[in-house]
Amino acid sequence: MNPRRLTRQITVGDARVGRVKIGGDARVSVQTMTAGYTHDIDACVREIERYAAAGVDIVRVAVPERKDTEALHHILPQVSVPIVADVHFHFQRALEAIDAGVHKIRLNPGNIADRDQVNQVIDACKDRGIPIRIGVNEGSIIERKDKQRRMEELGKFFAEHKSGHMLALMIAKLEEYLDIFDARDFHDVSISAKSMDASMVIDVYTEISKRFDYPLHLGVTHAGPRETGAIRSIVALGTLLANGIGDTLRLSYASDHIDEVKDGLELLYSLGKRTRKGIDLIACPTCGRIQVDLFTLVKEVERKLLPQIELPMKVAVMGCIVNGPGEAEGADVAVFAGDRRGIIYVQGQRVANVPEPEILDRLLQECLAFEAKVKRGEAKLGEKVVEIVPPDPIGALGSGADKIRAGFVEQVTIGKTS
Ligand code: SF4
Repeated sequence: MNPRRLTRQITVGDARVGRVKIGGDARVSVQTMTAGYTHDIDACVREIERYAAAGVDIVRVAVPERKDTEALHHILPQVSVPIVADVHFHFQRALEAIDAGVHKIRLNPGNIADRDQVNQVIDACKDRGIPIRIGVNEGSIIERKDKQRRMEELGKFFAEHKSGHMLALMIAKLEEYLDIFDARDFHDVSISAKSMDASMVIDVYTEISKRFDYPLHLGVTHAGPRETGAIRSIVALGTLLANGIGDTLRLSYASDHIDEVKDGLELLYSLGKRTRKGIDLIACPTCGRIQVDLFTLVKEVERKLLPQIELPMKVAVMGCIVNGPGEAEGADVAVFAGDRRGIIYVQGQRVANVPEPEILDRLLQECLAFEAKVKRGEAKLGEKVVEIVPPDPIGALGSGADKIRAGFVEQVTIGKTS
């Protein structure tokens, strides 16, 4: 992991919804966008709040029509996270959204008719202290109005190395747009340069990060349904974040946007870019040694524990004792299943050996009890008291099931860890 690249910092939000900082030393934030109509006020508020409950930091809404910016007057007082108005083609929508009290504007200067209109938006944002994201997308950087020019540019684009030419074009456009903001002495800016090609996203943001110190909004655009979209997005954004590039992000899925929020947060947790909220679930993939319905158990553990446990407690659900203890080392609470039973450990100490139907409830009970202990200051997360030593896997069944059934699998104290 490379150190975080230092960028300027901008602030999105207000005293009521909270102020989210982007860039500098602020934690990397997660964004999403509503999928429904903004003018459907109640549904829009419900959608935003659903994402807020899942942990999103900022939500963007589209405002293609006047009725959408009018709706913002009713939406903004009802939501609990900062809202960005996404503006394309109509600069008036940006002015109306600013007037309604929106917390940020997303603008693609390339699809606003003239520079004076862009200037009007910049000046209005400056007056209200609202930042602007300058978004350049691969698909929209060539002016659609000028077909001849588009064809010429595309001709060049195909004549040379595809990615290299597009990369140059995106950076050139971004520089051109930033000049407009520089000329107005407006620097409350974040920038994005999205593509649907993961390798292009890595290349373009890497180049941009060398040229500008504005905070970077990462994303792979039109990434597809979650199945493919997650892989495209995580490989691109994960690479950039590991290289210290990126201050805020949005995954874009052609499916329920709640998954954009969940996956965006998981990406940041996995890279250690954010402190996890709630359980960190470890589970084995199962194999021929499995003797319980582990997939159902894991799903149920996730469903029951996620809403109830606040602390970033590591919980391991392992299919057997063979590799389980080794793989679950470091888990605060672990269950090792076998022979239709589950042995539950809390920080390395065995606390229960229960039949399969009781595993879930007992695990939940132990997790809640452990969380309460941590909250009372009687235990610390991640502090292993004893090592769990796995049983000899070479036996009649090879899985240690006999030993589990007989209750022979005990922890062996080998001393406290620091
Ligand atoms: S923990 Fe046991 S069941 Fe799960 S993958 Fe490892 S060996 Fe297989």
